[in-house]
Amino acid sequence: MILIVAIVISSLAFLLINRRRGSDFSYTITGAVNLTAWDATKGMPVTLEKGWEFYPNRILTPEMIHQSHEENATERYPYYRSVQITRDGWVSLGDTAELYSYGETDYKMDSYGVGTYRIELLLNQSVDFVTLNVPDISQSATIWINGKAVRHYGTVSEARNVYEPARVCADIQIEPTSEGRIEIVIDCANFSSPYGGILSSPCVASTSTIGTIEYSVRMYLTVLCAFWVFFLIGGSYISKTFVNRSKFYFFLLMFASDILYEIFSPSVTILSGSWNTLIQISLLILGNYWTFLFYFSLYPRGTSKFFDKLRFFEITFFSVTTALYLVTFWCFPSVLYLKSSTVANFVLLLVTNLYCVFRVFYMLRHFEHGKNLYSASVILNTCLHLSQLLRAQYFVYISLHAFLLLFLAIGFTLYFVMDYVKTYEKLADNNKNLESAVEEKTRYIKRVNQDLMDNHVKLVENEEARKKMMSNVSHDLRTPITAIRGYIELMLNAKEPLSREQEVQYLNNMHTRSIQMEQLISDLVQLTRMESENDTLQLMPISVKEMVGDLYQLYHSECEGTEKVITFEAPEDDDLIIEGDPKKLLRVFENIIVNAMKYTHDDGVINIICHRYADPAMLGGNAVEVLIRDNGVGIPSNEVPYVFDRFYRAENSGINKTGSGLGLSIVKSVMDKHGGKIWVESEEGHGSEFHIVFKASDISFDEEEEE
Ligand code: ADP
Repeated sequence: MILIVAIVISSLAFLLINRRRGSDFSYTITGAVNLTAWDATKGMPVTLEKGWEFYPNRILTPEMIHQSHEENATERYPYYRSVQITRDGWVSLGDTAELYSYGETDYKMDSYGVGTYRIELLLNQSVDFVTLNVPDISQSATIWINGKAVRHYGTVSEARNVYEPARVCADIQIEPTSEGRIEIVIDCANFSSPYGGILSSPCVASTSTIGTIEYSVRMYLTVLCAFWVFFLIGGSYISKTFVNRSKFYFFLLMFASDILYEIFSPSVTILSGSWNTLIQISLLILGNYWTFLFYFSLYPRGTSKFFDKLRFFEITFFSVTTALYLVTFWCFPSVLYLKSSTVANFVLLLVTNLYCVFRVFYMLRHFEHGKNLYSASVILNTCLHLSQLLRAQYFVYISLHAFLLLFLAIGFTLYFVMDYVKTYEKLADNNKNLESAVEEKTRYIKRVNQDLMDNHVKLVENEEARKKMMSNVSHDLRTPITAIRGYIELMLNAKEPLSREQEVQYLNNMHTRSIQMEQLISDLVQLTRMESENDTLQLMPISVKEMVGDLYQLYHSECEGTEKVITFEAPEDDDLIIEGDPKKLLRVFENIIVNAMKYTHDDGVINIICHRYADPAMLGGNAVEVLIRDNGVGIPSNEVPYVFDRFYRAENSGINKTGSGLGLSIVKSVMDKHGGKIWVESEEGHGSEFHIVFKASDISFDEEEEE
């Protein structure tokens, strides 16, 4: 950024010290003297006798002019004195313009760019050679120095109404007369438009000055071309890493067209005439178009829907305009010399540049990247185009322009290099991210692998449990059937009729066995049904106190006459209401109580406690718990996690205790469906404690009954 600002400032400084117009520096004999901007009040090495004279509507030789000034002249031509040559090729009349009126109508200029200019200089110092620099005359001209025609461009017909155009641009060496006097006469003709005459004021300078300036201009162009080639080679390497290379190509085109424009400048080119202008104008238009495309390729897509949509229209519009321009100029070259063409070119360049500036600033609001470079590029590019338009004196212009081009190239080199560095950094970053992502994924795969291994172990265990259960089930089914068959055979084969008591005993035994079978089958059916999705809960408010209380009554009477003790505790003033399916919950409580009875010794003690569960970590603190504690065989600690698995029976469950290992898994799935919790705390040999927790219902039992 600093570099670019420094470059712009130094270019402007260069422009200022080289301006021939209005600068004291440039009025020395070694500098160039602009023949329009003469100030007679300043003591200078060159004196301009009277400034420019202009004879409108006539192509005159110096001789004709001299004769017309003689006293006995037969023909006098009206003319203006002290005229200024302006940028648009016409003359503006100085304040002191004197009118030699030999007929009002003659004096007025007609609509054509035809006329003769004359100026007289007096050198104050003795100088061997002076160079006259004529930057631009439109269209055909003859230049006379001290009465001698030294250059002739284009042709004017006898009738002076047809001409063959040529771009006039010349450096002419002048040998002053012994008194140091120089008379310059230039006649010009442009019959196609009034946009004619001397386009830029000629200047004189010492031969060495002009040589130096032209030499430096050519040096600049050489440096620029070398730079461009260097950029082309280096840039194409660097740009390989870009996502989109088009910006690089557009930059090359833009830069190349600007350099070519310089090369086709009249002071440098080998071509002459209209071709020159035509090619230059085409390069200007193309350079403008490529500049637009270059900026366009910088804009990131997807920042704004509106601009994304606009993109297509923008490109179409600029492409069509450019094509129209080129076609017009190449098909009708005379249009080039119209004043309106200059205005149109100016407008096109201005609009494109303003548009680019506008878009860049809009994008900067949405896009951080390359802020400084964008801005610097816009400033430089605008300067570049403006310098093309502000072409007053081409010496100054071309050096400034070359400077700007050079620095524009440096600016963009920086841009591309920074872009490259950023891309590289991004790549390095991505690499790092990738590495950590791979690490993470590896960890993840390890974890998944571990899970798979665990699942595999579980599956093997389940399979084992299933096999065990299958043998249990078949054993448990066969045992009662064998027993029943035994009793039936006993009764059938009895040689003597059985006593009534015996019969009752046999039938009772058969009855018990068939109940056992039924229980097992019902367990299997229940489990299968629980696992199927279709089994929905019939929810309704349930009083846990009442349900568990009833079960307690049942098993309490069953224990009567045995040493087993069963107790029940519940709050007096709380029914402990929950939402649940009564049939299924009955099964849960019964299962746990039956297990407690089953896995305790004959003198076992079983406590059933129902209460509210206040821990906020458990179901939001609003919960009801049924705790069933026994002092039986307990569960070995390594087996506790598995007792709720299907078919799982702890090693110490005992061969005498019949069971399928299905009861707790049914209980668990009922609890899961109710959104409740069940867990067991147990110590082998000392007993177990089953906790069954439900979310308490908000409706009280009484309210429900009233409803
Ligand atoms: P089972 O039909 O074998 O009782 P369950 O699913 O009801 O099947 O119980 C699974 C296993 O949990 C039992 O085999 C037993 O080892 C253990 N178990 C369940 N309740 C208790 C308890 N109150 N005391 C000790 N062990 C128990």
